[in-house]
Amino acid sequence: MKRSTDNYVDGKRQILVADDEFINREMLENILCDDYNVLKAEDGEMAYDLIKQNCNTLSLILLDLMMPKLSGLDLLSRLKEDPDSRSIPVIVLTSDQESEVESLRKGAADFIPKPYPEPDVIKARISRSIELAEDRQIISATERDELTGLFTSEYFYRYVDQFDKFHPASDMDAVCVDVNHFHILSERFGMSKVSEILRSVADSLRNVFSSSNCVLCRMTADTFLVYCHHRDDYSNIIEKISSGCVGMSTTIKLRAGVYASCDKKLDIHSRFIRAKIAADKIRNNYSTFVSTFDEALLKEELFSEQLVDEFPKALEEKQFKVFFQPKYDIRGDKPVLSSAEALVRWFHPTLGMISPGAFIPLFEGNGLIAQLDEYVWRRSAEKITEWKERFGRPVPVSVNLSRAEMYDPELVNTFEKIVKDTSISPKDLYLEITESAYVRDSSQIVDRVSQLREHGFFIEMDDFGSGYSSLNMISELPIDALKLDMKFIRNAFEKQNDTRMISIVIDIAEYLGVPVIAEGVETEEQYLALKKLGCAIIQGYYFSKPLPAEEFEKKLQESIS
Ligand code: C2E
Ligand code: CA
Repeated sequence: MKRSTDNYVDGKRQILVADDEFINREMLENILCDDYNVLKAEDGEMAYDLIKQNCNTLSLILLDLMMPKLSGLDLLSRLKEDPDSRSIPVIVLTSDQESEVESLRKGAADFIPKPYPEPDVIKARISRSIELAEDRQIISATERDELTGLFTSEYFYRYVDQFDKFHPASDMDAVCVDVNHFHILSERFGMSKVSEILRSVADSLRNVFSSSNCVLCRMTADTFLVYCHHRDDYSNIIEKISSGCVGMSTTIKLRAGVYASCDKKLDIHSRFIRAKIAADKIRNNYSTFVSTFDEALLKEELFSEQLVDEFPKALEEKQFKVFFQPKYDIRGDKPVLSSAEALVRWFHPTLGMISPGAFIPLFEGNGLIAQLDEYVWRRSAEKITEWKERFGRPVPVSVNLSRAEMYDPELVNTFEKIVKDTSISPKDLYLEITESAYVRDSSQIVDRVSQLREHGFFIEMDDFGSGYSSLNMISELPIDALKLDMKFIRNAFEKQNDTRMISIVIDIAEYLGVPVIAEGVETEEQYLALKKLGCAIIQGYYFSKPLPAEEFEKKLQESIS
C-alpha cells in the first residue's frame, strides 16, 4: 500500500515506541514528544496491532528486539513481508551487536544502541531515517504505477533509453499489449474488478517476461508496453498471459502490436507508436491477437490522419463530387434507365480521385460521415429537382445511409428539411440501408426506418444476404426493395454457375411483395440470367459505371430520345 508522505497526526508525524521496559518508553517519549506524536507498545503483539491500525500514518517504529509475546526480530520480519507496513522505517533498539547486523539484514533502517546515546543523537537518527523513507516514497510514487507496480511511462522511456546505452547491439522489439474491449469490461464489472484484472495482466506480463532482460510499463488504463529481446513469435506468449488472468469470471483477451527488431535510430516514442498502430489494427478482430508493424501500416495511418485533417476544408471547397450509377428496370422488353445510386468521390487537389472505400469506413468510425452524407443527400435531392424540370419526368436517386446515422435522433428532421428546401417528393429519394444495420439493435433501427417510410421515403435494403437477418425478421421489416449483395453475383457466376441462392432471394422478395435489385452486374450472361430468374432492376458495369452528373445526364437524354 502507498503511504502518504504527509502523514501528520495532530500536526506532528507519528512514531511508535515498542519497548517492554516502562522506563525506556517514558524516556523516549520525553525526548520525542515535542516533535512527534508518540504511540507506545509494551510487547510485540501490542506493537503489531498498533502498527496494523496505524500503518497509513506511522512515520517510524522504534523497536526493542527483546520483547515478550513476539520478539522484535520476528515482528520486523512480519512487517517487511506485509505490503501495508513494508515501507515504514524501523529503527531497532539493542545492546547486542550481532542482533544489529541481523536486524539490518531483515530490513531495519538503522539501530540505536543501548544504553541510549544523547537525546540529540537519537533525534538526528530518527529524523534522517524518516527523511530517507519519505524521499524513497516520492521516488517510487512517480516511478511506479500505483496499481500494478510496473514503471510509469515517463520512467519507462528513461529506462529503455538506458537499456539501449548499455546494450547497443541487442536486437530489440517494442511491444504494445492492450486488453480487448476494456471499456466493456469496466461497464460490466466495475472499477474494482477491472483493477484486479489489470493487476493480474501486469503479474502475468512480469512472469512471462521476467526471465529475459526487458523493461515493462503500464502506459494508460489498459495499455502495457514491453521492451524486450527480439522473438519470432508472440502468439504463445499472449495466449499464456491471457490465460494467466485466472480467477476472472470472464475470459480476458489481450492483443499485442509488435514493432520487431526496432530501428534504433528512431526515437523511443516513435518505436512504441509503431507498436500501438499494429495493436490498433486488430482492435476488432476476434481471431488475431498479434499484429506486426510494417511500413505500409504507418503509411495507411498517416494517410487516414491526413484525410481526417483535411475533411472540413474539402467539404467547404466542394472537393467531394457525387457520381450517379444508372439503375435499369429490366422487366420489360428493353432495359429502361429508371433511377440512379448516388456514390461519392473525393477529388483531392494533390492526391487525385479517392474512392469511398478509402474514407467512408474512416468517417463512419469518427462521426464525420454525418456531415458528408448530408451533403450527398442534399446534392442528390437538388439533382432530382433539376432533372424533373429538365427531362419532364422524375428520376429517383438512392442514397446510402451509414449504420451510425440510424441512431441520430435528428435523422428524420434532416431528410424533411432537404425535401422542403429542394421541393422533391420523398418517394423519389430512395434510402439504401445496409442489411447488417437491421440485425443489431433491430427494434430501434426498425422504428427509425418505419418513421422514414411513413414520411414517404422509399426504403431499399442494401447488401441483402450479407447480414444474416432471419426470414422471420425480414417479413416484419419496413422495406420497399431488396438489393442483392454483390457477392451473390460473384459466387453464382464466377465459380460453379449456380444461381440457386439468387432464386431463393428472389422468392423471398416475391413473398414480401418487393422487387429485387442486383448490383455488380458486369456481363451480358449475368444480365440475361438475372432477367430470366425474375430480377427487376440491374445496376453494374455491364450497363454503366458510376458517372459524373453531366455524363449521367447525357445517358438520361439518350434514354428519352
Ligand atoms: P455500395 O453501396 O455497395 O455501392 C456499390 C459499389 O459497387 C460502388 O463502389 C460501385 O462503384 C461499385 N460497383 C457498381 N457496379 C459494379 C460492378 O459492376 N462491378 C464492381 N466490381 N463494382 C461495382 P464505390 O462507389 O466504391 O462505393 C463503395 C461503398 O462506399 C458503397 O458500397 C457504399 O457502401 C459506400 N458509399 C459510397 N458513397 C457513399 C455515400 O455517399 N455515403 C455513404 N454512407 N456510403 C457511401
Ligand atoms: Ca449502396
